[in-house]
Amino acid sequence: MIQHDVVVVGGGLSGLRAAIAAHDGGLDAAVISQVYPVRSHSCAAQGGINAALANAEGSQDDTPELHAYDTVKGSDFLADQDAVETMTNMAPGIIYEMEHWGVPFSRLASGKIAQRPFGGAGYPRTCYAADKTGRFLLHTMFEQVLKRGIKVYSEWYILSLVVDGGTCRGAVARHMPTGELQAFCAKAVVFGTGGYGQVYAHSTNTLINSGSGMAEAYRAGVPLKDMEFVQFHPTTIIGTNILMTEGARGEGGYLVNAKGDRFMKNYAAKVMELAPRDMVSRAIQIEINEGRGFDNSYVHLDLRHLGAQKILERLPEIRDHCIHFLGIDPIKSPIPIQPGQHYSMGGIDCNADGETQMPGLFAAGECSCVSVHGANRLGGNSLLETIVFGKRAGAKLVQYVKGGQFRDTGGLFNEAVRESEARVEALFRGTGAEEPPAIRAEMKEVMFSKVGIFREGKAMREALGKVKELQERCRRLRPIRGGRVFNLDLVRAHELPGMLDLAEAITAGAIAREESRGSHSRLDFKVRDDLGWMKHTMAYYSPSGPELSYKNVSITKWQPEERKY
Ligand SMILES: Cc1cc2nc3c(=O)[nH]c(=O)nc-3n(C[C@H](O)[C@H](O)[C@H](O)COP(=O)(O)OP(=O)(O)OC[C@H]3O[C@@H](n4cnc5c(N)ncnc54)[C@H](O)[C@@H]3O)c2cc1C
Repeated sequence: MIQHDVVVVGGGLSGLRAAIAAHDGGLDAAVISQVYPVRSHSCAAQGGINAALANAEGSQDDTPELHAYDTVKGSDFLADQDAVETMTNMAPGIIYEMEHWGVPFSRLASGKIAQRPFGGAGYPRTCYAADKTGRFLLHTMFEQVLKRGIKVYSEWYILSLVVDGGTCRGAVARHMPTGELQAFCAKAVVFGTGGYGQVYAHSTNTLINSGSGMAEAYRAGVPLKDMEFVQFHPTTIIGTNILMTEGARGEGGYLVNAKGDRFMKNYAAKVMELAPRDMVSRAIQIEINEGRGFDNSYVHLDLRHLGAQKILERLPEIRDHCIHFLGIDPIKSPIPIQPGQHYSMGGIDCNADGETQMPGLFAAGECSCVSVHGANRLGGNSLLETIVFGKRAGAKLVQYVKGGQFRDTGGLFNEAVRESEARVEALFRGTGAEEPPAIRAEMKEVMFSKVGIFREGKAMREALGKVKELQERCRRLRPIRGGRVFNLDLVRAHELPGMLDLAEAITAGAIAREESRGSHSRLDFKVRDDLGWMKHTMAYYSPSGPELSYKNVSITKWQPEERKY
């Protein structure tokens, strides 16, 4: 058994920031990650991170309060306004801290940190490091972890939580390179386990974004919040769905249909391509559905008018992606794009200090739902969320651990390891013939086609039926192939039931919510219904499916209004 004060699961920005805060508060914190930390999805973030620094020309009047208002409006009034204000007030300090730790932010001629316009923002507010912002943030954060000597367990995969009488006391993990199982005993556990993009087809997310942390917490009795709100990013490369950052439109890129029209004038005349993501994704999908796309499947993101110099300086990574994955150079040709699944607004229900409903279990970053994004996240607010709430969760942990009494739970861990071992062995001995990759593919396809950008009751009920069928088939998997060492067939099969649980929670929440709000756009309930539905969905696990209840939205300054751009 391995012991630490705090075990942080997740080597992305949220997990590393929580570990640093816990360490700096005097705790022995360790990080567990299924990949070497800098390979976490945070590294893939391109466009930037928001803070009202008021640096860019024309943004002198920007304030954290205006940032909060834009975020609340962008969320279609479902975000908790007190949490949003906490985040936007902390944002400038977070940026300066990251700058002092060494992030090479792009600069204005004056030497100040540069800021670009992003969708739904009243001012250019998004700080960036070319179009590799996440990579620079994550590498810099990891340097701080190494500098402090924080213990990192790389390529360990969490199999289950260890819960003692309702209190979280650790986790069981499997060392992927050897197959060894270990109990990690702690006074508190933090999940910074990221999103569930792989539940959907056509996702910008990496393979490891399977939502395993959310699924584990859910099974352990912690509710998931607002799962029906799934973000679709407007601009992903046709076919591979590799992201083309919103920064491309922030720098002035156009969206053009097959008739050569900049069609956003018909959807958001004032802000055009810089409307929030839910609106731009719907606009693109409507153009395609109504026959104004290319090959009935895509439109163009045109950067040519920006010129070679700007593209090479501000958008070098997406240019590389286009050259490598499409064989075209955006300096010379428009980019074929379509909307793709991108982000989970919903997640593990927690407060602005990362506390979940289970004592001892904290959550931060994309796996959590505080909620600061409500029904639709603004670009650049997620990187911010990971660092703000990672830091806050770490600080809260210090109080929790220092103020608590923790009894010896040794026996519990032996039992938990035995249970996890039995689950793994059962997968190797599988008695059925069902193919895990086939179940996964069917789940992804039905979620994208029936619980996607546009939704409708009948199709979603069919999707729920399909998910239930897949859950049933999942009980009859064929034996896992290969040995115990670095066996990804095993990992994928192990996480499959959890992904189906998440698919079920997303779909059940979406069927119940009879309105359109943010990313949840129903063809059979087209308007937002503040009287009936300005509330958070809470999904509790039960073996027969999610049990839904609802929770009030916290409102401080801004009453709901129609969302116009
Ligand atoms: C392509 C792309 C571009 C983006 N661009 C931007 C942007 O420009 N601006 C912005 O604000 N947001 C952006 N986002 C969103 C943002 O990057 C993510 O929401 C954020 O980085 C998530 O960070 P995280 O720390 O919560 O999780 P992640 O960075 O996803 O890290 C999750 C960690 O959990 C670990 N983990 C998960 N499950 C287990 C398990 N069972 N056992 C052990 N370890 C586990 C993983 O190993 C990993 O270390 C982008 C997202 C994508 C996909």
